[in-house]
Amino acid sequence: MQYSKLCETYEDLEKNPSRLKKTEILSKFFKPLKKEKDKQIIYLLQGKVYPDYDEREFGISEQLCIKALEKSSGVSKKEIINHWRKIGDLGKVAEQVIGNKKQNTLFSHKLTTDKVLDNLKKLPELQGKGAVDKKLSLISELLTSATGTEAKYIIRTLIGQLRIGVASGTIRDSIVESCLEKNKENTEAVQDAYNKTTDFALVFEKACKGIKELKKVTLSPGHPIKAMLALKADSIEDGFKRVGKPAIFEYKYDGFRMIINKDEKGKINIFTRRLDNVTNQFPDVVEYIQKYINAKSFIIDSEAVGYDKKTKKYTPFQAVSQRIKRKHNIQELVKKLPIEINAFDILYYNGKELISEPFEKRTKILRKLIQNHKYKIRTAHQLITSSEKKADKFYKQALKNNQEGLMIKNKDSKYQPGARVGHMLKLKPAENELDLVITGAEYGKGKRAGSYATFTLSCLDEKNNKFVEIGKSSGLKEKPELGLSFTELTKKLKPLITKEHGRKVNIQPKIVVTILYQNIQRSPTYKSGFALRFPRITQLRPDRKADDCATLSEITKGYNRHELKIHY
Ligand code: ATP
Repeated sequence: MQYSKLCETYEDLEKNPSRLKKTEILSKFFKPLKKEKDKQIIYLLQGKVYPDYDEREFGISEQLCIKALEKSSGVSKKEIINHWRKIGDLGKVAEQVIGNKKQNTLFSHKLTTDKVLDNLKKLPELQGKGAVDKKLSLISELLTSATGTEAKYIIRTLIGQLRIGVASGTIRDSIVESCLEKNKENTEAVQDAYNKTTDFALVFEKACKGIKELKKVTLSPGHPIKAMLALKADSIEDGFKRVGKPAIFEYKYDGFRMIINKDEKGKINIFTRRLDNVTNQFPDVVEYIQKYINAKSFIIDSEAVGYDKKTKKYTPFQAVSQRIKRKHNIQELVKKLPIEINAFDILYYNGKELISEPFEKRTKILRKLIQNHKYKIRTAHQLITSSEKKADKFYKQALKNNQEGLMIKNKDSKYQPGARVGHMLKLKPAENELDLVITGAEYGKGKRAGSYATFTLSCLDEKNNKFVEIGKSSGLKEKPELGLSFTELTKKLKPLITKEHGRKVNIQPKIVVTILYQNIQRSPTYKSGFALRFPRITQLRPDRKADDCATLSEITKGYNRHELKIHY
């Protein structure tokens, strides 16, 4: 396909903010694509060249894009930067400098989506000596054949800011509209296939062949899936009311999610909730899996919890969070920050998908497979009961053991990848805590001069697929050993600046932080319609993507529930 055709669709999507309209534009675009053998164009619509589970990144800075623009347009770097300062969108700058040049030049070969995919796919592979030059020439090659509009979207793709406002729900609905009859069942089938594969090109390919083929999509170990998420329970009584009696109670461990895979060939892969492959960071876990899980292939859902080497007490998430990102001296961290795996579900076992089996059956299978070894790997502490008194005792025991609280699960429910479900609830002591994403910052003065001192916090308005502001925080509990300090945060945020205005900057939504706040109020000051009072940043959440932060509907629901409690 001509890249210009895709760019026309990008333009249309960018111009039309309504989700319905976006779905209409996309399904129209998908229809002729049904006949094309290669469906990877869908990745380009997501601003990527690989499926969602593939974490490879282009590794291209804005500075390198500017160099490539200079090389392919002849406009000086200085001029490009000046222009960028004024308009704040490097994509638009590219559109103008490349577009102007094109008015005077005749160019023969037109860009195809294949060529764009081809060049962009080479970028993550380039490393070491000479890599920067090679990257530069791959980008310049594309820019040289591009029109102004094409250059705009090439640059935006490279810096991860496509700005066409297409969320995965829109892609899902467009696949339904272009391939199947539009109804709830088909929408669920497409969503289901995506949750199992996290690959929209594959889902589209199956959907093109009809609903039967789509429903044949199964889990496959080694291929990350979206984890099932829980809703909140107010109390044990509330939990029983919502999941029924008897309920299955488990400790809610305070660690991070690990989905452990072993494929038919014995290859082990470990994924986080963000679908990042962290197998290399956890050689200790690989060893426990090999030694203590007796099965040929499986997908097991678990929580990894840190503990203190000396006292053997469990430690909060933040203490072990460093292990997720560590690339070097891994063995040193294995020793320093040991973890215990607490397995709580099994989704696939010896060639068979288990997600449609009732939870009670899955948990029994899991418990047969794992040889429990404290401080290494074990199945989650569990209690099956109809008694509030017993459940309450169990809850207190979990808190005493430094865990967050309890999970309350319905015994007959299936596992729904990617869904936040009402048959798995979490119960924790009331806390005013939210995970939010940083979308802006402001330079400090005096002691804080040179670093950012105030951070703009946003939640996800999932209906409009936008991050909306909910507060500003100058409070930060510095923990330099965990990378949390004003200076460290400034370092992390600087490469993500999208616009500077005076002392303030806009930041690409990438860094997720946990916030502790006093209370929440309705407020017209922020786009979310709410304002947090006295928010303080307490930890970094490198295990979360921006999309995983608190959503506006969760906050609204929480606010309403709290208000109800106050008034009745
Ligand atoms: P929170 O911020 O309250 O921890 P969350 O946003 O991490 O919640 P939820 O799905 O809302 O995620 O809560 C469930 C999380 O609790 C799971 O993602 C998992 O990481 C963790 N967890 C700990 N123990 C268990 C367990 N026994 N069963 C299921 N999930 C568990």
